[in-house]
Amino acid sequence: MYGTDVALLVIDLQPDFMPGGALPCPHGDTIVPGIAALLSARHYHTVVATQDWHPADHASFASQHHGRKPFDAIELHGQPQTLWPDHCVQGTEGASLDARVDWKHADLILRKGTQRLVDSYSAFRENIGPQATRAPTGLAGWLHERGIREVHVCGLARDYCVLWSAQDAAISGFRVRFLWELTRPVVAASDEATRIALMEAGIEIG
Ligand SMILES: [Zn+2]
Repeated sequence: MYGTDVALLVIDLQPDFMPGGALPCPHGDTIVPGIAALLSARHYHTVVATQDWHPADHASFASQHHGRKPFDAIELHGQPQTLWPDHCVQGTEGASLDARVDWKHADLILRKGTQRLVDSYSAFRENIGPQATRAPTGLAGWLHERGIREVHVCGLARDYCVLWSAQDAAISGFRVRFLWELTRPVVAASDEATRIALMEAGIEIG
């Protein structure tokens, strides 16, 4: 059991990011038992889960950009934006939280990417504008007000939403531990770049 000032943040553990889903992370399903065990063992006093939750015409979908295809890179609101297959559409089965985890131990379920024109990789900030001024989701305040000083992150995908959440957590003043084995990337060749980005941000990998 960790101290009461440590929170677990589970990012986007949803069927659309699993093998067979709309935007699969290879082997993404292999992290589910470990995360389920962490929750059921009550190792963390505070658990937050995020849920990617897009309107059907979301701007991150390649289908919304004429002549574009999934994984094309564009710029949106001054941020690099990868265009994705349609995924995690609000109310669909693929957008649900993974049924193999007992979410009753989650204190907060934060939905993100809910605005049509704005994507949100990070649990803490929207993908809009320069890093330090991106619009906050309110999660940093929620954690700070509850006395949380350290955040452990896991989930999907290692190279996007988990990485961005970890970086923003560090910027927001939390000690951060990146639970590497409880993450999987959507782009397999990204691991070296992810490790470098984490080290540059002073984030512990463990
Ligand atoms: Zn998304």
